[in-house]
Amino acid sequence: MKNSRRHFLQKLTGTALAMTVIPHLGLAKASGIPDEQPYNGPILRVAIMGLGSYGSRVAEAMQACKKAKLVGVISGTPSKIKDWQAKYSIPEKNCYNYENFDKIKDNPDIDAVYVITPNALHHDQTIRVAKAGKHVICEKPMALNAKEGQEMIDACNNANVKLLVGYRMHFEPHTLEVIRMREAGDFGKVRFFQGLCGFRIGDPGQWRLNKELAGGGSLMDIGIYAVNGARYMVGEEPIWVTAQETKTDTGKFKPGVDETIQFQFGFPGGALASCLSTYNMNHLDKFFLNGDKGFAEMQPSTGYGPIKGRTHKGELNQPVVVHQTVQMEEMSDIILNGKQPLVPVDGQEGLRDLKILDAIYQAVKSGKKIDL
Ligand code: NAD
Repeated sequence: MKNSRRHFLQKLTGTALAMTVIPHLGLAKASGIPDEQPYNGPILRVAIMGLGSYGSRVAEAMQACKKAKLVGVISGTPSKIKDWQAKYSIPEKNCYNYENFDKIKDNPDIDAVYVITPNALHHDQTIRVAKAGKHVICEKPMALNAKEGQEMIDACNNANVKLLVGYRMHFEPHTLEVIRMREAGDFGKVRFFQGLCGFRIGDPGQWRLNKELAGGGSLMDIGIYAVNGARYMVGEEPIWVTAQETKTDTGKFKPGVDETIQFQFGFPGGALASCLSTYNMNHLDKFFLNGDKGFAEMQPSTGYGPIKGRTHKGELNQPVVVHQTVQMEEMSDIILNGKQPLVPVDGQEGLRDLKILDAIYQAVKSGKKIDL
């Protein structure tokens, strides 16, 4: 098989990463790292829509997948299509642009479209893909608000196709181990979560700083990891939210584009979360969970890795994986075999985050505690 484990390792860049991966190869099966076992099951044939920086990362990571294969592209830039065709052996008949991609309906060789475009486009593009009868994997944030998210879910239900959201951390081994420990009661009753997510954003002209395309600022892009993380780390849905915004650069961060938002959640079991989302601090990527018996700490917690963590019992020593490879292997199983992931990645999961994002913006605006 072409997509062997050796091939996977060759794809890894950086000696440090390779060195951390190699000792864990024995755990390949548990981690989802492709191994040498022959695979004869179904393969999810995927077209990527949006050949930008994250689309390129997903395409590279998919080269090590056994259960998912990149077979098509949708792009507005003909030269990028040509490059991807050459690089990934994509046939002409599987190439589309943003005007004609509804025709994917007539293409029996594509099962799913992975939407990796600016946030504001996810809603319409997902609905068009659903109407074309193909499964959708959509990047986070799934949409700009909960209303849009619900419409996407409805469109996929009506078309009888699956809708998944690109929550790669839901398959990451260190993260899953902390969740397992929490469920086993290792931390006791969970009391507190802290999620700190941010980076210093560059080019002021990029779509991430354009309200029309991004739907907001840091919260939509990076703060969503703390929102989503608070939910899977605490293991409950928040019942209220409070939030405060600060802005140091009103030239770069125009109205409606948040630079920094702090937000707090209350959970039904009494736990609290305190989170920070920012476009103004580099290397901010930390989760901390504390219960009445112990703690888990992860830093980095949601970056591309390697994810590092420790608990009151010691270092976390899970296998280091390429997140997008494992995600696509698992998503193939979810779509084609109905596998239920430990932490959901379906449209409803995306919608839960969107409702909370809406409430955070409402709390910022009103200065009030918002019930969820
Ligand atoms: P990017 O700017 O690098 O790529 C976006 C792509 O969309 C480009 O190829 C661009 O040409 C195309 N595009 C199509 N229509 C466009 C339009 N009207 N305006 C601007 N670009 C348009 O962005 P990215 O970093 O690849 O992010 C894309 C999506 O992926 C976002 O929703 C982002 O939140 C998500 N993302 C997720 C992760 C993750 O770890 N899950 C990481 C990065 C980005």
